[in-house]
Amino acid sequence: MKKIKISNVEIKVNEELIRNLKKHKYTVEEALGKILNRSLWKFANKLGKNKCPKCGKPTDNTLTLYQSRLLNHGEKTRKELGVCDCE
Ligand SMILES: [Zn+2]
Repeated sequence: MKKIKISNVEIKVNEELIRNLKKHKYTVEEALGKILNRSLWKFANKLGKNKCPKCGKPTDNTLTLYQSRLLNHGEKTRKELGVCDCE
């Protein structure tokens, strides 16, 4: 585990929220740490899914609605759109 310190970040936290967290034995810092950690995991997992493990190119997941419509209608190829065309 690596400790990360975020400085110069100011967040206004509601008093009632602080009391509520305290009731569950959390400080605001601890709660934020947990939340940020979870978000980082989600973010990292998403990055993994958006990149093809074989060629490293972005997958179809990264296409905009418009781009995937072009692809589905055969107006553009995956190569033209710059996404993975493995298989
Ligand atoms: Zn690929």
